[in-house]
Amino acid sequence: MIPGILFKPFSYMYQFYTMKLKYLLRPKNSPKIHEQKVKKLQKQILEWNRNGRKNKLCTAKSLGFTIRSLNKKSYTQINVNELDDIIEIDTTKKVLKVEPGLCMGTLTWKLLKDGWTIPMIPEFEVLTIGGLVAGTGIESTSHKYGLFYDICLEYEVVTPDGSVVTCSKDQNPDLFYAIPWSHGTLGFLTSVTIPIQRFKKFVKVDYFPTTSIEDASVLLKASNKNIDFIEGLAFGKNKFVVMHGYFEDNPGEGKVHSLDPWYERCWDKHVEFHCFESSSGKPNSQVMSEYIPVRQYYHRHTKGYFWALDHLLGNKVLNTLWFRYLFGWILPFNFALTKALMPASLGSTIFKLHILQDYMIPMDNLKDLVELSHDLLDIYPLWLCPVKFFNKPGMTHSNSKIKADFELFIDVGIYGTTRKAINEVKALKMLEKFALENKGIQFLYGDVYLTRDEFSKMFDMSLYNKVREKLGCTDAFPEIFEKVSRYNRDF
Ligand SMILES: Cc1cc2nc3c(=O)[nH]c(=O)nc-3n(C[C@H](O)[C@H](O)[C@H](O)COP(=O)(O)OP(=O)(O)OC[C@H]3O[C@@H](n4cnc5c(N)ncnc54)[C@H](O)[C@@H]3O)c2cc1C
Repeated sequence: MIPGILFKPFSYMYQFYTMKLKYLLRPKNSPKIHEQKVKKLQKQILEWNRNGRKNKLCTAKSLGFTIRSLNKKSYTQINVNELDDIIEIDTTKKVLKVEPGLCMGTLTWKLLKDGWTIPMIPEFEVLTIGGLVAGTGIESTSHKYGLFYDICLEYEVVTPDGSVVTCSKDQNPDLFYAIPWSHGTLGFLTSVTIPIQRFKKFVKVDYFPTTSIEDASVLLKASNKNIDFIEGLAFGKNKFVVMHGYFEDNPGEGKVHSLDPWYERCWDKHVEFHCFESSSGKPNSQVMSEYIPVRQYYHRHTKGYFWALDHLLGNKVLNTLWFRYLFGWILPFNFALTKALMPASLGSTIFKLHILQDYMIPMDNLKDLVELSHDLLDIYPLWLCPVKFFNKPGMTHSNSKIKADFELFIDVGIYGTTRKAINEVKALKMLEKFALENKGIQFLYGDVYLTRDEFSKMFDMSLYNKVREKLGCTDAFPEIFEKVSRYNRDF
């Protein structure tokens, strides 16, 4: 607690500076300034080429969310940190051009005040556009829009020979479809074009608690096309809440709930408290609704980093009345900064104790995966997020996995500390096996124990390999498997 109290002002100032102040202090970004920044990046790559491509390239970004970062010492680090702003907003064409280092917190701060948003805002304020495109991004609008890259219209990429290439579904489509999931192993993203849309000031959230996974599955399937947000939380094997959210201008007579006060519970605890009787644990019988201001809704999981922080503190501290009122103000910490400042040994101990995994599987396999996760790990809550899985070229194999234009999949997020006396690696391997056998995919930011053979069964490497070859990436970037897999390695 004491380190937390001391760290908070530092984390707050850092966050305030990186997400807001620095943008106020410098000239407004523009296509021209962006071009100059890209030229600087190109210069670094051309220099590396001139020096004979002695080692591989990586970004000099050190504050990402991805848990197992590369040991960057043996790489030539390319400074991409300046590329972190909105380039232009075209309200006539309804598109936004942004740089990859722009984080969600700054994006919502800058966009919402002019009445615009993008179709998907992954929850944590520190997640960046580049990480969400080249890694993975998902949110409670994914049942409509798919994964983060599915909303993107165009990428600008600097390739290993220093060229700037623009790609979209019609222009250089191979590169466009190969970038998602490639984790920075094809080139450096320098801009991303995304559609914008008008939003309303509130999200009306209808809560549906249930003890039946069958009922939860029906609610998650989103048969009503007007639902803007769908999210589920499993608090136990037989304890679920599915939430349907709708953009609304005005709460009318409805109850407005603010998530901002420092003493507020973390979102998962708020939902559980709201939906189940505290004495019997039974679901409250009526459908309940409340209105949440839109920016607070977007970033609702930031305070407790889902429930990761609660689990780290043994589920006994974070949401207690005394902690919330006395110390609630110390949250949230800037996750990326905390990770960067933590001694490596402490970081690896925490990540060893703590599981952070996402498995995206066909909707019909939800029950089996929840049961398997229960038997192996017994970690709750689980995050349940329906995703439109589009039939597209690229690493996800979707065009061999699904026949129609899209299919509804569900992402099951397992975040926390297990109470089971089980070898975690063994448990994660069993979950990977389940995903593999059921057309599933695991997100690559977490722990990946797949063998190379299993990896290429889960991910279709053909387009990726073709693009790598064509762009001369082989001696420029590690292969994706090499970058993310922990198979036979410890890092
Ligand atoms: C605790 C936790 C909670 C999470 N919760 C969510 C969530 O709610 N929603 C969600 O969508 N995801 C979530 N994630 C996953 C997260 O979105 C991914 O890990 C994402 O890739 C991280 O983004 P980042 O901005 O931190 O990127 P980084 O970790 O910095 O980068 C991710 C990958 O993208 C590559 N990359 C970054 N910038 C560039 C660039 N300019 N050019 C080329 N490659 C680049 C990097 O090399 C890296 O391989 C969570 C992860 C953790 C650890």
